[in-house]
Amino acid sequence: MLQLPDQSRVQKTLESIKNIVEQKLFPLEPEFLKAGGCFKKIGPELYEIRRQVKKENLWAPFFSKEWGGMGLSLTEFALVSEGLGRSPLGHFTFGCQAPDVGNMELIHQFGTEQQKQTYLLPLAQGEIRSCFAMTEKDNSGANPTQLQSYAEQKGDHFEINGHKWFTSGAEGSSFCIAMILTNKEANIRERASMILVPCENPGFIIKRNIPVMGHVGSEMMSHAEVEFKNCKVPVENLLGGQGQGFLLAQERLGPGRVHHCMRWIGLATRAFDLMCERAVNRQIKPDQSLGQNPLIQTWIAECKAEIEASRLMVLQTAHIIENHGQKEAKAYISMIKFKCAQMLQQVLDKAIQVHGAMGVSDDTVLAYLYREERASRIYDGPDEVHKISLAKHILRQRNSNKSTKEKGLS
Ligand SMILES: Cc1cc2nc3c(=O)[nH]c(=O)nc-3n(C[C@H](O)[C@H](O)[C@H](O)COP(=O)(O)OP(=O)(O)OC[C@H]3O[C@@H](n4cnc5c(N)ncnc54)[C@H](O)[C@@H]3O)c2cc1C
Repeated sequence: MLQLPDQSRVQKTLESIKNIVEQKLFPLEPEFLKAGGCFKKIGPELYEIRRQVKKENLWAPFFSKEWGGMGLSLTEFALVSEGLGRSPLGHFTFGCQAPDVGNMELIHQFGTEQQKQTYLLPLAQGEIRSCFAMTEKDNSGANPTQLQSYAEQKGDHFEINGHKWFTSGAEGSSFCIAMILTNKEANIRERASMILVPCENPGFIIKRNIPVMGHVGSEMMSHAEVEFKNCKVPVENLLGGQGQGFLLAQERLGPGRVHHCMRWIGLATRAFDLMCERAVNRQIKPDQSLGQNPLIQTWIAECKAEIEASRLMVLQTAHIIENHGQKEAKAYISMIKFKCAQMLQQVLDKAIQVHGAMGVSDDTVLAYLYREERASRIYDGPDEVHKISLAKHILRQRNSNKSTKEKGLS
């Protein structure tokens, strides 16, 4: 049964976030867009707003208080993530951007005390950034059991060789969590491990930032091709146990998906607001605004319904994860991925269409969001893979119900 979250504990937080996003971040966006989404251009202003966020105790809302965060529950952070998603600058400003969130949670849950002091502490305080390197150019990222990059243990260190790409935010990161084979002979899901690699290591080579739809981006808003060339790291840099790479990734799956989806819902809401504003203000005839056209009205209605449906589905998923665990939420965790990614693409497309030529210009944030977020249907597992996984799960359940009935057990 659908459980709507109790917003009372975060109501004030949501209002404070709304004020900062609208009053401080929206005005920074034109400069950011003018520079082609170049993060460096607005860095100093963003760091100043980050200081204000910390002062107001709004920093790292998802993370435990012990490490300087707000200690919100998954459902509460989902609501916050939606609010922050209204600006592409939101999550970074509040210390909860991907992939740092996932990396922090991994080190928090599986790291040694030394790893926590060296990597987690400065990351949680926003002093450094990190990246996550799993996907390889020459192997299907949709099936990570195909990984080839290999870490050979030589005495007290690993020597890593491999070729990764789409390592988001590698430029300017201090360390990378790399998913690397450590035992090629082991069971297929026990071959890979996660290894902490300092980015200043001479064997960690950023070959280039890959242009995405014509834009190369920079720092946090970039995606790098990375070569690991005889990259030596001490064995103490292993995160969790050897061969536990997939196990660790699995632990992060549900919460990570909820974070992504609520951010997308925030982005879709922003696009929707811009679409409505344009529909009201654009005159298509002296006595008629765009919003008076029934076709545009149906787009507005459809987009609103899609956003609301996605939102309820994600909140329900967060509720199930929190109260019954990830296993129970398995079907929902797949479902929200493709539902929300498609919804986002649909809303962005309609919002652009309603803006006409302005929609594809960089005079609004829409074109930037469209360029960046087309990838939402590909990263975090392509939509098709999640659809197939969901359908298999449903059919398996049907089959097991059928055989239970046939055996007269129900
Ligand atoms: C903007 C962006 C940021 C990213 N950031 C990171 C990052 O920080 N770190 C990282 O490690 N990776 C990152 N990735 C990589 C991402 O995780 C992979 O692109 C994704 O897993 C898909 O892998 P692939 O590109 O190799 O596509 P492939 O595996 O080659 O798949 C191509 C297409 O084939 C179809 N397909 C594949 N398998 C199946 C199947 N079993 N059934 C049906 N259809 C299928 C899907 O339509 C899919 O889109 C990022 C990607 C993008 C675009």
